[in-house]
Amino acid sequence: MEKRIVILGAGESGTGAAVLAKLKGFEVFVSDLSSIQAKYKEVLDKYQIEWEEGQHTEEKILWADEIVKSPGIPDKAPIIKKLKEKGTPIISEIEFAGRYTNSKMICITGSNGKTTTTMLTYHILTQAGLDVGLAGNVGNSLAMQVAVSPHEYYVIELSSFQLDNMYDFKADIAILLNITPDHLDRYDYKMQNYVDAKFRILQNQTEKDAFIYWNDDPIIAGEIEKKPAKASCYPFAETEESGVKGYVKQKEIVIQTPNGIFKMEQDLLALTGTHNLYNSLASGIAAKLLDIQDEKIRASLSDFRGVEHRLEKVARVRGVDYINDSKATNVNSCWYALQSMTTKLVLILGGTDKGNDYREIEDLVKKKVHTLIFLGVDNTKLHAFFDGKVARIEDARSMEEAVTKAYRLAKKGETVLLSPCCASFDLFKSYEDRGDQFKKCVRNL
Ligand code: ADP
Repeated sequence: MEKRIVILGAGESGTGAAVLAKLKGFEVFVSDLSSIQAKYKEVLDKYQIEWEEGQHTEEKILWADEIVKSPGIPDKAPIIKKLKEKGTPIISEIEFAGRYTNSKMICITGSNGKTTTTMLTYHILTQAGLDVGLAGNVGNSLAMQVAVSPHEYYVIELSSFQLDNMYDFKADIAILLNITPDHLDRYDYKMQNYVDAKFRILQNQTEKDAFIYWNDDPIIAGEIEKKPAKASCYPFAETEESGVKGYVKQKEIVIQTPNGIFKMEQDLLALTGTHNLYNSLASGIAAKLLDIQDEKIRASLSDFRGVEHRLEKVARVRGVDYINDSKATNVNSCWYALQSMTTKLVLILGGTDKGNDYREIEDLVKKKVHTLIFLGVDNTKLHAFFDGKVARIEDARSMEEAVTKAYRLAKKGETVLLSPCCASFDLFKSYEDRGDQFKKCVRNL
């Protein structure tokens, strides 16, 4: 009998999973509670896949033998609860696609730095001439690539939500950048649940596989102590510490792997800031483990152009620098942004709070920021925390208002930084929309 697969959510990953399932001979149904983008409808129609939008027709969904769920759908969604009660297996698109490929998987997770490290690793591998696909949260869906344009290597950005529904998938090289509180609203406000999701990146690994991680992350260290990793470990750190395989020594980055030692002047790294040193070390270790030539790794680490909305320099207007860090959707990434700033600041932050604890940035804010602009529908929590701690605080209900106020209040030689600590959905479509609006307003000054 044909197996019946239902795909919930018809975005990039769901559409790819549907096509792969169809090509593998399953009976497929796709259901999305919101509307499906025209480009995905076209693909579904092309492959004669039945779909619905704006609703979840229960009898057509509960009929499934297996569900592929979009990472955007929370476990508390009523349809997921029903499926769980029924005992229907629920997997992620990456898990599904992983069943149909033996390619080498380089997987990247962490609370912050995933996209940067994924893009940087992809850049090194493509520049070295490898046949590589980009998948996960960025690029095209893994399932679609496996279905129609397979590659020998995949660099995959994995969020905790994707990892939640992964069971048999194995990463040949797993990178875990850091773990700080994020998305706690989706994990019953229990940090351990979120940590467990991130550590799923190690499941099924053997000593033939590699685990690259930040050595100084207390949460990662604590977990490894509880449950040592089976894979060969490649921890990295800012300075040489015992057992560390990637670090900086006398202004040179040093990477040690069974394929030899890689060295490069730290000054030549394209990405600046301590957080980006970590990202560069992680990507460099992965590249060296894949035996890419040193000069190619060096060239790519030094000519990488960065990723939009991540500490992106927008313009200098009347001696004030404007920096777009719209992707800083949690407190820790804002901490790194603040830490890398060398001037006094006007900081624009706010949005949809995900259970934030602002104590983490309190000292840096007091030291570097003279004006805070709260950009959100509900700024109560920000006021409760910051009022009285900074010279000036303003509210803004639109990006234009925020940028105009920042322009008025920033002095020559200073910086205006958008690094919101929060998700964007109260006032914007997405963090990209928020960053684009910021750039547009700055360019209109
Ligand atoms: P992610 O995909 O995990 O959200 P990004 O690469 O998009 O990560 O970067 C998100 C934000 O986190 C950026 O604002 C950036 O400044 C900051 N960041 C990047 N790398 C790191 C890191 N290794 N540690 C902490 N913060 C980081």
